[in-house]
Amino acid sequence: MTSFDIPEALVRAEIDEAALRENAAVLAERLAPAHLKCVVKANAYGHGVDLVAPVLFAAGWREFCVATIPEALHLRSLLGPDAEILAWLYGPTTDLDEAVRAGIHLGVSTVEALDRLADAAQRIGATARAHLKIDTGLGRNGLSPEGLVRALDWLRRHDEDHLAIDDPGRTDDHRADVRIVGIMSHFAVADEPERPETAAQSAVFSSAHGQLRAVLDAADGRLGESAELDVHIANSPGALTLGPCPGTSARVGLALYGLSPLEDGDPAVLGLRPALRLVSSVINLKDIPAGHGASYGLTFTAATDTRFALVAGGYGDGLPRAASNRAEVAIRGRRCPVVGRIAMDQMIIDVGADNDEVAIGDEVIIFGPGGPSAAEWGSWADTINYEIVTQLSARVERRLTTGGRQ
Ligand SMILES: *Cc1c(COP(=O)(O)O)cnc(C)c1O
Repeated sequence: MTSFDIPEALVRAEIDEAALRENAAVLAERLAPAHLKCVVKANAYGHGVDLVAPVLFAAGWREFCVATIPEALHLRSLLGPDAEILAWLYGPTTDLDEAVRAGIHLGVSTVEALDRLADAAQRIGATARAHLKIDTGLGRNGLSPEGLVRALDWLRRHDEDHLAIDDPGRTDDHRADVRIVGIMSHFAVADEPERPETAAQSAVFSSAHGQLRAVLDAADGRLGESAELDVHIANSPGALTLGPCPGTSARVGLALYGLSPLEDGDPAVLGLRPALRLVSSVINLKDIPAGHGASYGLTFTAATDTRFALVAGGYGDGLPRAASNRAEVAIRGRRCPVVGRIAMDQMIIDVGADNDEVAIGDEVIIFGPGGPSAAEWGSWADTINYEIVTQLSARVERRLTTGGRQ
């Protein structure tokens, strides 16, 4: 096989590792005594999990969350055995054995999942660690009130069965069994602090926590230690808007990357700074006469003589086509509009007739420090900053920087 020296990509995401470390430290301080769980699902919100997770791990963070089991196993191979990794999204046919073997903590939303976990633990001869997931109002995963009753019954019966059966395979330290190590839920409207549903969700969660504690205490530690339960419900908006963080930990994603989950929220006010700067460059520049069109559909026509800069970056890199004729980028510290449709690979920037500073090869900041924010791109595309960063495609080259440049 021939191998090539591949040149750097045209569109690059610079990931500021100092910003990641500082954001984690700021959040951890805010959450204390509850602790920080770093959410690195969806390729670390598009930032590149292979870069982000090792930086956080090296900075001392040990608790990580992802959505799926493939993500969890990838993270295990990246971080080794000392990271605590939680995943909560899997299907009825997803094989749980590898997750149990790799010591992944799993969110459990059904009694059936408890059965499957117990079976996997038996097969593998390892402890399956579960966080009972409670639906406190979001309506997604999690045990409903009736589901919780059934899950608690399952736990009681499971304990009784084990006590009754003289099971030679069973060791006193319950190595091949299910242990309940956490209880979790997820807020629906914590980004809107004035709404009452968050307190209602917290109340349902506390009640479920109390019921679980009673079952664990009655089992005398055989199902898990209630004193050591990891209790978590807050995400980024919860962590930032609630006074003291409820529970023993919070699962924080977006804020870790220095982005605000709050509408019109300025990350700087929260002590956070964006870790990602999406950069490209001017690859062509031309004088354009009044009346000339721009890009597919000719949805833009130059009103006056002007200059068009061609910039690499399009929806093939994850930029939203919906932001066509609305978005801006920064070139040499100046905001310039995207004109015409954003194409798969490129977009046209109107740098203005009077702007003779711009040159071919100039850096273009598409978003991030020094340019528009991911939230602005979200507003231009009728979406949110979460989606803007997470959509960044595989073609974008991610690399770590130490920041410094502002
Ligand atoms: C994605 C996710 C989080 C993190 O949410 P942020 O708002 O990004 O902090 C936490 N918990 C669950 C269940 C999630 O799906």
